[in-house]
Amino acid sequence: MSAKFPAVFPLGFGASPLGSVFGPVVQSDADAAVHGAIDLGIDFFDVAPYYGETRAEAVLGKALQGIPRERYFLATKVGRYTANGFDFSYQRVLRSIEESLERLKIDVIDLAQCHDIEFVPERIVHEEALPALRKAREQGKIRFVGISGLPTAYLRRVAETDGNLDTVLSYCHLTLADSTLTEHMPVLREMGLTVINASPLAMGLLADRPLPEWHPAPEALRLAAERAVAFCQAQGTSLPKIALQYALSEAQRCGVAVTLTGMRHIDEVRQNVAWAQEGDPAPDILHAVQAIFSGVHNLTWETGLPENRP
Ligand code: NAD
Repeated sequence: MSAKFPAVFPLGFGASPLGSVFGPVVQSDADAAVHGAIDLGIDFFDVAPYYGETRAEAVLGKALQGIPRERYFLATKVGRYTANGFDFSYQRVLRSIEESLERLKIDVIDLAQCHDIEFVPERIVHEEALPALRKAREQGKIRFVGISGLPTAYLRRVAETDGNLDTVLSYCHLTLADSTLTEHMPVLREMGLTVINASPLAMGLLADRPLPEWHPAPEALRLAAERAVAFCQAQGTSLPKIALQYALSEAQRCGVAVTLTGMRHIDEVRQNVAWAQEGDPAPDILHAVQAIFSGVHNLTWETGLPENRP
């Protein structure tokens, strides 16, 4: 384990939308969202070369230019470059770090994560990608080393086998519809890991907007989300508000370090920070929404290699 992981604002800025993956984003909107986030106290930004096939990193790098480096913690990833393009080899990972540093226009990446590790044989992660990240750390190019992916039990297994990781990023598994991550939290925390919960809105499923074409949620989950959106609107509130407040309050309860939501516009940033500051969701609405999701609780989708689905 390297230096102590810093405490950060509980709501982090997920920068995948800056790669225009949820709809087109222009640089001026990205600049306003990023600067607004920093002004409101957000200090954790997460991105990857994969998001918009390098676009998100380039847009975020431009937006962050001129902001004092100590004002933000920057996490990116290695190993995934397109929907089906993975390369976790030692040399590619080292080159990936150089490319990200250049696009992000910084000297040091705070956290580098192996991106969606369930898609490649486990051996490559242990024998090539993680040693390369540790080499990059020795060279002073990154500070912390982590992994990310969907199957939480597999992330835990890889972290246990390695025994020396700093972070684990799990996504879509601590939401109104899914509590898988909470089951693993005691063990992950006992291992000294910093846990990052991404996608509290289940990659937009729990937002009240049309889903992007690539969204993998099964039909039953989509239908429950549609019912929950309509229910919240009828109650004069909104599903993303309840979903974000719920994820943040669960994160605090079980020791998640930061919850990452994807944002691309200053209005979204202001809205999400205001919801976060308001505190826990109204209990009566929360219980009614949880009842809507009860039939699809923890329903997920398969990703990666069959042998990595424990
Ligand atoms: P999310 O679940 O919060 O969904 C984002 C969607 O919700 C976007 O369409 C966004 O525009 C919308 N949204 C945000 N605020 C809203 C609001 N107030 N009202 C209505 N809609 C709102 O987050 P996400 O983008 O899926 O994930 C967050 C970040 O976590 C990503 O950007 C990425 O950095 C990281 N992540 C990593 C992995 C991985 O490593 N495998 C996977 C998923 C996410």
